[in-house]
Formats: sequence, structure tokens, C-alpha cells
Amino acid sequence: MLKTILVTGGAGFLGSHLCERLLKDGNNIICVDNFSTGSKDNILHMHGDPRFEIIRHDINLPLFVEVDQIYNLACPASPVHYQLDPVQTIKTNVHGSINLLGLAKRTKARILQASTSEVYGDPEVHPQPETYCGMVNPIGTRSCYDEGKRCAESLFFDYYRQYHLDIKVARIFNTYGPRMHPGDGRVVSNFIMQALQGKDITVYGNGQQSRSFCYVDDLVEGLISLMNTEEVVGPVNLGNDSEFSMQELAEKVIALTGSSSQLSFHPLPMDDPRQRRPDLRQATEKLGWKPTVALDEGLIRTIAYFNGLLESHRDIINDNPEVNVQEVKVSEWIMQDSCG
Ligand code: NAD
Ligand code: UDP
Repeated sequence: MLKTILVTGGAGFLGSHLCERLLKDGNNIICVDNFSTGSKDNILHMHGDPRFEIIRHDINLPLFVEVDQIYNLACPASPVHYQLDPVQTIKTNVHGSINLLGLAKRTKARILQASTSEVYGDPEVHPQPETYCGMVNPIGTRSCYDEGKRCAESLFFDYYRQYHLDIKVARIFNTYGPRMHPGDGRVVSNFIMQALQGKDITVYGNGQQSRSFCYVDDLVEGLISLMNTEEVVGPVNLGNDSEFSMQELAEKVIALTGSSSQLSFHPLPMDDPRQRRPDLRQATEKLGWKPTVALDEGLIRTIAYFNGLLESHRDIINDNPEVNVQEVKVSEWIMQDSCG
């Protein structure tokens, strides 16, 4: 049955792909975003579809809409961005979640929380199963996000136990793809933007820390599958379980772009997890889901996207030879968006 679905953070990287996919299935979509890290460019192509509605709104404030399902994706995901205004990050996770859980309670909507592998912190158990409780520094610079997301999970499960809300919790591992912000600060967008511009590739630490990268289309399928699998509440890990060191990733990006960029090593940020790989048994067994896009293939698609972005902003770059597109603030980049 077709539904009215609220996607918070719908103008962001993951949110825009999710809106697109849900719209394609014929649902009515309400996309809510405060455009702090998201962009109108990400959703421009859906604008004008009578089943797609956009509301500029901060989820820290109550929202009154009538919906059947809620995907809560509103929250900056890049360490650079979530640490810019850590109080807002934690509020978004706590106050924002309370507001949306209240909305779900009133409308009896099913609600899915986009949680994160960051709840595992710097894990001592590898790969990470959902039963692992994590090793998180509660007072570090990442804690606004890690602890914010952990508190959001607590809230979801308290509403589930106390008010019998229909909740779902997805723990998302590093996901990448087209529509990541070029100045996002996350490793895949950084490395690709640097390689395409022939700049040094900024590897933090000794580059031996690892991550497992999931292509966005796979992740969206995983979220939809969790939302629509009746008996599964979660938390369920969603990601790709092929693991790479950051040095391996840098070398892959250089090879796939044919770039002459060199690696340059920089200090490791505080509390940067040393290793991360999802244990996907629950996702596979309970949802019948597993990722299908290998890193090389996903990188090729993402490189093509960033190449196109650089080409379409070539005039700005030519007019301002000093501008480092990667470091352009999100707000400035958005001002350059075609839809202003
Ligand atoms: P993103 O920064 O591109 O998207 C987040 C969106 O939320 C943006 O459009 C932003 O403007 C919006 N937003 C932020 N605060 C808001 C607020 N208070 N009210 C309304 N809108 C707000 O990041 P993303 O990668 O698309 O991540 C989406 C969600 O998935 C986040 O909740 C993130 O924590 C989670 N997640 C993502 C990854 C990943 O690798 N991409 C991994 C784990 C979890
Ligand atoms: N990283 C890096 N160079 C960059 C950006 C990130 O070496 O330009 C490293 C970072 O230190 C971390 C990994 O890449 O070890 C993944 O970082 P990202 O910010 O993408 O996500 P995280 O998993 O840390 O939230």
C-alpha cells in the first residue's frame, strides 16, 4: 500500500537518495531539512513532483504532519561538520529524536532511526556485532555525535518498551556515493576531490586505520528493507564488510582517477577509531539483505559524480584560482547552487 513517508535530513546525501527511491515506488514524500549540511541541489530533480513536498524545518522544534512512516536521518554525519556546532549536534540527536518519537506516537507511524557504527566507538571487538556495547569516550570531541546517537537509540528503545512504538534502528557503517558534499570532510569525498585536482591526498595518522565502505544504493535498499520487515526492530548493522586501510583507499583513488597526487600524512584526529567492519549476519539472516556494489565499482561512479561537479563549477574555480573547492564552506557552496 502506498504511504505518506517523512524523511528528515531528506536534502542530505543519504536522505536525497532515499527520497528518490521511495518516490519511485509511488509513495508521498515529505522531505524535512534545515539545509545545514544538505543542499537544494540534491533534491532539485524531485521538485515539481506532486508527491514530493519540502519543508524547511529544524527537528529540534516540534513538527505537525500526518504520516505513516518516518525515517529520521537529520544530523550532520561528517566529523568535521558535526564538530562545528557540537551542542546543536547533540540537541538534534536528543531533542530532535524526542520530537519525532512524539510525532510517531501521535500518528501511530512506524519510525526508523539512522544510527551509526560510531556507537561502537573505537571497538575492541572486530568485526562489530550488534551485541557489542562499544568503547566510546563520553567527553571527547566526537562524543556530541557518538553519545548523541547512543542517547537517541536509548530514547527509541524506551518509547518502544514504554509506549509500544513501532520502531526500527539501523546502525549505518561508512557509506559513500554521489551527492556527498565536496567539502564534506569525510575520507572518500576528500580523497576523490584531492585526486581530481592533483592535490596532496591527506592521510591522517599512518593510514593503517581501517573502514568498510558501503555504496549508497545498497544502503538505501537496506534501510527500506529494515523499515518494511515486520518482526525486526534492530539494532541492525547496515554496511559493507570489505575492509580497507586508509592508505589502501588513497592508493585505489589515485589509480582509478589516474591522478599524479602524492600521499601526505597528517596527525590523527582525537578518538579516531582504529578499525571498523560490520558483522552483517543479522542483516543477512533477518532482512535477506547484503551489499552488492564492490568498492572499485562504487568509487568509479562517485568519481564520475565529482568530476561532473568540478566541471559545472569550472567558471567559479577559474575566476578564483585560489579557491579550494573542497574547503568552500557548505553555506557558500549552497549559495552557488543553481537553485540558490
Ligand atoms: P548529511 O550531512 O549529508 O545529511 C544530513 C542532513 O540532515 C542534511 O541535509 C542536513 O541539512 C540535515 N539536518 C541536520 N541537522 C538537522 C536538523 N536539526 N533539522 C533538520 N535537518 C537537519 O549526512 P548523511 O551522510 O546523509 O547522513 C544522514 C544520516 O545517516 C545521519 O543521521 C547520519 O548520522 C547517518 N549516518 C550516515 C553515515 C554515512 O556514512 N553517510 C554513517 C552512519 C550514520
Ligand atoms: N581520513 C583521512 N583523511 C581525510 C579524511 C579522513 O585519512 O582527509 C581518515 C580518518 O582519520 C578516519 C577515516 O579516514 O580514520 C574515515 O574518516 P571519515 O571522516 O570519513 O569517517 P569516520 O569513520 O571517521 O566517521
